[in-house]
Amino acid sequence: AGELTTVMAGKLTMATNATFPPYEMTTDGGDIEGIDVDTAKAIAEKLGLELQVDDMEFDAALLSVQQGKADIAMAGITVTDERKAVMAFSDSYATGIQSIIVPEGSDIASPDDLAGKKIGTQRGTTGYIYCTDDFGEDSVVAYDNGLTAVQALNNGQVDAVVIDNAPAKEYVAANPGLKVLETSYAEEDYAIGMNKDNTALVEAVNAALEELKADGTLQSIVDKYITA
Ligand code: GLN
Repeated sequence: AGELTTVMAGKLTMATNATFPPYEMTTDGGDIEGIDVDTAKAIAEKLGLELQVDDMEFDAALLSVQQGKADIAMAGITVTDERKAVMAFSDSYATGIQSIIVPEGSDIASPDDLAGKKIGTQRGTTGYIYCTDDFGEDSVVAYDNGLTAVQALNNGQVDAVVIDNAPAKEYVAANPGLKVLETSYAEEDYAIGMNKDNTALVEAVNAALEELKADGTLQSIVDKYITA
């Protein structure tokens, strides 16, 4: 597959959106941590590279690997056919479920009940894509990130937020008065996004990921951030 090249010699540059706990979040001290960050660090170590994390909006993270500005994009990114047309993906390392957050006492109890409601999503995510496909663009508000979408729900600007289950649980835990519906909207695979032309990197990342799965490192990273 040829020699391994990265955007900056000696570094593995990761584009992310650090508002997606527990995959990536910003601590009070301003550090970025989470399952994706630890996994990327472990991959970088196996490749003999130093990890550099760049925080940006979710759609910008997807673009930055396509434009060759970052080596990998990790942001709980769902593999879809549309994205596969413009970027390469590693093997999957986690599963996500699109969930619905509503205020306690809401009359929304299932995905069908979203019809006719204002739905908050994150710009460029699968939640946005599914909701606009199913309920029309006028029903869906796209926010810069999950945090601002949940704030809009708290302020009554939207009736529900559709977002991946792991951050949904964390946002609800941090915002009394909100709950996650038991019924899920869609199930999906998370993978690492890369530039289509960098096949050497895709192969190296997959080999590293395979080792991290086999030796239990990946599971221990997940266990560190997801309890119960
Ligand atoms: N999994 C969703 C997607 O890929 C959302 C990811 C995110 O918001 N960070 O579209």
